[in-house]
Amino acid sequence: MKILVLNSGSSSLKYKVIDIISEYVLAEGLCERIGLDGRIIYKVESKNIKENIEVELPTHKEAIELVLEKIQNIDNGVIKSIEEINAIGHRVAHGGEYFDDSVVVNDDVLQKIRELSELAPLHNPANVLGIEICKELMPDKTNVAVFDTAFHQSMPDYSYMYALPIEDYEELKVRKYGFHGTSHKYVSNIANEYLNKENSKIIVCHLGNGSSITSVKNGQSIDTSMGFTPLQGLMMGTRCGDIDPASVLYIMDKRNLTSNEMNTRMNKESGILGVFGDSSDCRDLQEEMNKGNKRARLAFDMLIFKIKKYIGAYAASLGGVDAICFTGGIGENSSVVRERVCKDLEFMGVKLNIQKNSERQDGIVELSSEESKVKVFKIPTNEELVIARDTYRLV
Ligand code: AMP
Repeated sequence: MKILVLNSGSSSLKYKVIDIISEYVLAEGLCERIGLDGRIIYKVESKNIKENIEVELPTHKEAIELVLEKIQNIDNGVIKSIEEINAIGHRVAHGGEYFDDSVVVNDDVLQKIRELSELAPLHNPANVLGIEICKELMPDKTNVAVFDTAFHQSMPDYSYMYALPIEDYEELKVRKYGFHGTSHKYVSNIANEYLNKENSKIIVCHLGNGSSITSVKNGQSIDTSMGFTPLQGLMMGTRCGDIDPASVLYIMDKRNLTSNEMNTRMNKESGILGVFGDSSDCRDLQEEMNKGNKRARLAFDMLIFKIKKYIGAYAASLGGVDAICFTGGIGENSSVVRERVCKDLEFMGVKLNIQKNSERQDGIVELSSEESKVKVFKIPTNEELVIARDTYRLV
């Protein structure tokens, strides 16, 4: 049983072919710069192939055709023919209030994803395109949509509502939706298995280029730091996260910016990049901070402070915490971030094993010391595996 997992972005397409019984990744790759000049980078683990080739990719259709050709033809192919693919799982950014779980795509589902493009203008149209092209190229295959927002649909109303006039929710659907749901679900499920406890209280820190923190009670998301869009919450690579909404109006007014320009400023020019100035990458930030760069130190201190504030707030709203999990590029790899975040959380029972935290170890690692009341885990996320599992479950 082989599942093709697709993640279509506005100018990119990521794919994995996963054998769902062994959960082994047979092939994976990334098409970039679709509509510009085009490029595909692909890997076939078993055959030790890794290539980076420039190829014209005018639209997503050529990109998906190329992916199908590559998975069949590289070194005799990881699959002999497309017939071996049992179903296709698509990552879909926004499921709005329609979807609290993954679904098999039919005309009605596709129409709803299209309709939700208003809430996710950069992502949902690309996701729709990916599904439509698969339906055209492989009409007999089942397509499954796995939503980034679905896991957070369990949030109670007092958690997801903004205190705006109620008609902004009723008529415009402005509320907190949350994102990274597939990752938060995967990581909290693993922590739950380790805890093996009724009514567990878990905080998942997904820290990467985009970052969010979720509080999970008994397997259900009850609050998450991203909001109506992925802009809310933590300070991220290029996103500002929480700021006073009135400061947005003030900056627009003073700098004469349109809403589009302000949107770009907050999403692409802020966060680590905005404060540090040189890069949005956490590795560069840490390197410069260690050399004594003041702006790097400031950006890093801000990053840590905001993560810690969310953990404290979520521990309070959960009424305690059994485990804190770190995932994402920063969460999985930066021992310094984990140490600084946990250091001042000892008052709530968090005690990190400093030695273990600093060792490089792959896979799931328990980082808390034996006397810690709260378990601390590093859990590598695997969104594609969740998409493949959900696709398998539904077909
Ligand atoms: P992601 O978006 O999950 O792929 O994460 C990307 C982020 O992870 C970037 O900011 C990287 O700098 C960061 N990252 C990856 N490896 C490390 C590391 N060893 N130390 C600090 N940050 C890292």
